[in-house]
Amino acid sequence: MRGSAPTEERTRIALAIHGTVQGVGFRPFAWSLANRLALGGSIRNATDAVLVEIEGEGRAVEAFVEAVRREAPPLACIERIERTAIAPRNERTFVIAPSAADARTPAPVAPDTATCDECVRELFDPRDRRYGHPFVNCTSCGPRFTIVEAMPYDRAATTMAAFPMCAKCRVEYEDPKNRRFHAQPIACNDCGPKLAFEPGRGGSDPISAAAAAIAEGKIVALKGLGGYHLACDATNGSAVEALRERKRRDAKPFAVMVADIDEAEQLGHVSDVERTLLLSAARPIVLVRRRSRVVVDAVAPGLDRIGLFLPYTPVHHLLLSACARPLVTTSANVTEEPIAFEDDDARTRLRGIADAFVVHDRVIRTRCDDSIAHEVDGAPAVLRRSRGHAPRSLPLPHALAKPTLALGGQLKAVFAVGRSSTAVLGHHIGDLDDFKAYRSYVDALAHLRDLLGATPERVVCDQHPDYATTRLAHELAASGMELACVQHHEAHVAACLAGAGIDRHAVGVAFDGAGFGTDGAVWGGEFFTGTLGTLRRAAHLRYVPLPGGDGAARDPWRMAVAHLVDAGVDPTEVLDVDPSEIALVSQVAKRLSPPTSSVGRLFDAVAAILGIRTRSHHEAHAAMELQAAAERATDDARYPYDVAGGGDLLELDARPLIRAIVEDRSGPEIAARRFHATLAHATADLCAHLAGDARDVALSGGVFANALFARLTCDAVRARGLSPWLCRSIPTNDGGLAFGQLAVVGARDGGV
Ligand code: ZN
Ligand code: ZN
Ligand code: FE
Repeated sequence: MRGSAPTEERTRIALAIHGTVQGVGFRPFAWSLANRLALGGSIRNATDAVLVEIEGEGRAVEAFVEAVRREAPPLACIERIERTAIAPRNERTFVIAPSAADARTPAPVAPDTATCDECVRELFDPRDRRYGHPFVNCTSCGPRFTIVEAMPYDRAATTMAAFPMCAKCRVEYEDPKNRRFHAQPIACNDCGPKLAFEPGRGGSDPISAAAAAIAEGKIVALKGLGGYHLACDATNGSAVEALRERKRRDAKPFAVMVADIDEAEQLGHVSDVERTLLLSAARPIVLVRRRSRVVVDAVAPGLDRIGLFLPYTPVHHLLLSACARPLVTTSANVTEEPIAFEDDDARTRLRGIADAFVVHDRVIRTRCDDSIAHEVDGAPAVLRRSRGHAPRSLPLPHALAKPTLALGGQLKAVFAVGRSSTAVLGHHIGDLDDFKAYRSYVDALAHLRDLLGATPERVVCDQHPDYATTRLAHELAASGMELACVQHHEAHVAACLAGAGIDRHAVGVAFDGAGFGTDGAVWGGEFFTGTLGTLRRAAHLRYVPLPGGDGAARDPWRMAVAHLVDAGVDPTEVLDVDPSEIALVSQVAKRLSPPTSSVGRLFDAVAAILGIRTRSHHEAHAAMELQAAAERATDDARYPYDVAGGGDLLELDARPLIRAIVEDRSGPEIAARRFHATLAHATADLCAHLAGDARDVALSGGVFANALFARLTCDAVRARGLSPWLCRSIPTNDGGLAFGQLAVVGARDGGV
C-alpha cells in the first residue's frame, strides 16, 4: 500500500477556481473526486471563486487538477484556475466546508439548462417517484437564472422558496452522494409547483387537455422557463394562419419544437454541427434547411430554412410526447412587444390570441427569450444569445480599468457588465422602440447589477443620439458615472475580434442595416484597419441617398430607386411600382435624404430590382428572401465592380454591379446568387488591398447572419491568403454591440 508508507512524499496545493462554479454541483463533484483519489483537504465557496485545498500523493494531486479541467459537471464553466503550493499538514479526509465569510459577491449564477437525460428517464418511468412530474430537475439541469431573486444562489433566494421541500426531497438535497445534492429547485409531485389548464376541463390532466386542444387546431399559451410561448399544430395550415393573424405577424418565421433529434432530422437536413447545437444544453432554436413539407409553408413563408428546437423543460417533453406532432412554439407577444412572463399580464395581453392556457404556480423572476443559433462556414454561431447562455460570462482581451456598463444599441438590445477582463452579457431584450421593452431593459439591468453585486463607475453607449440606450447613458452620466462612446461599426468589428481572441493588427468589415456615422451619414458598409481600440475607417460602400430615412427598410423599392438612379438607370424601366411614386422618391432622394453606405439596404435594393420583394414586413425580410433565392441557384459567375477614391478612404463602387444585374436576363435566382458572389469577392479584394501586414479579417454586422454570404466571403478571403473570422459566441447583429463596446473601452484603457 503506497498511500500508507511512512516515507511517502506528500503534496498540498491551493486552487482558486473562477467562473460559473457555484450552484452547479461542483462541490459534490470535487468531494467524490477527492475520495476516489484518496486526497485530503477541503472545498468552500468564496468571493467570485471556489477555493480548494488538496493534499496527497503528487500524481493523485495532478490527476485531481486534470479532472477538474476535463470532467467538471456540465453546468460548470471554468474560466481560470489559480494554483499555489502550500505545506502539507497530513490531512487524510476531504470536507465540504461552510462558505467563506467574505462570500458577499459570489460567482455568477448559471444559465437555465435543458432537462438532462437522467431526469427525462425519470419523467417517463412509471416506477419513479417523479414520474410525470412537470418540474423534475437536478444539479445538472433545470432553471437557474430565470428563478433567482438574489445572491448567493440558495433556494430561499429563488422563486422556489414558496415550495417547502418534502421529507424525501430534503434527504436527497442534503446527501452529497445524491445527484440532487444542493439542487436548489429540487421538487417532486408531492412538494413541487403544480400545472393547470385553463379553462379547466373536468377530469383530464393539464397535458392531455392541452394536447387535445392543439389537436383540434387551437392555440395554447404555455408558461415556460423564461416566459410564455404560443403553441399550435405546425402541420395544420389554418391553425398557423390564425396564429399569424392574431399575433399580427405577417412574415417572420415561427420556430417549431420537435420531440427529439430523429424528428428534427425528418423535417430538416441536419448537419453534424446543427445536430450538436440542437442537443446542446442551451437548446437554442437552430436554423436548418427544410427537408419535408410536413410542417406547413405558413410557418416560414418564402424561406427554405426552418427554425427547429428540442424540448428543454419537462413540460415540453410531456406535451410533445402527448401531441405526437411538431408544434409551432413562438414567443407569446404581439408584434415587437417583449415576451409575456407574468401571469396576469399574460392573461391580459394574450386574450384574443390564445384559446387556452397551460400555467403553473412557480413565478418567473426574469423574462428570457429562446436563443437562436445556426451553422455558418462549417461551425456554430449564436444569433440571439439568451436563454441557456445568459448570464454566462465571456473573457475580454484587455482588462477594464474600472467596472463598466455597456448598453449596446437600440434593436436586439443586450447590455453587458464588465469587470476586469470579464464581460457578463444580459439576455436578449428586443427592440427598444417599444416602451414595454425599454422598461424591461431597465429592470433587467438593475437585477443583473444586483446579482453581480456590481457598482459600475463608467457607462458606454453608441453614438446615435436617438437610441434609448444613449439617452439612458447620458442620464447615468448626469448622476456621476463616467461616459464613453463607441462608434456602432467599430463596436461590431471589436466584438468579432475580441470574441475570436484576436489582439493584433487586423482588417475589420462591418456590414449591417444602419448605424450612426461620424460624418453625418448613415453607415452600414464599413472597412476598418488597426487593432482593438485603435480601429480606423479605411473604406466604405459608395454613398447613395437613403430615401425616407429609417423607413427605407420597409420599402426596398425606395432603395432600388436610389441605387438605380445613382447607376444611371431609369427606375421606371425596372421596378414594378407606380411611376409617380418613383418620381416622388427620386425628387426627395436628391434633396432631403441623408447619404448611406448601408450594405443591408443594398441587399434590399437588389431584392426589389429582381422583383423578389418590393415591400417588407420587417427589417431583414427582403434580404432573407434574396438569400433564399440565391440558395436555390448554383451559379458563381460574377458581375463587375469598382474600387474608387484615394488617400486614406476608399470607396466600394456598386454602380457597375447594379447595371449588370439590370441587364442580366438569367432569372432572379441566378442573379441573386451572382450578386452574393460578387459582393463577397469585392469585399475580399478590398480587404486584401487594405491588409498590409495584417493576416486576420473580422467579418461582422447583421448582414453576416446571411450564412450563404458569410460562407462565400470567408472562401473569398481565404483565397487571398487571409484568415476570415466570424462572430461565433456573441451575435453578429446588434445583440453583440455591448460586448464590442467593452472590448474597445478595455483596449483604450491600455490594460492587459
Ligand atoms: Zn437533471
Ligand atoms: Zn418533494
Ligand atoms: Fe448594427
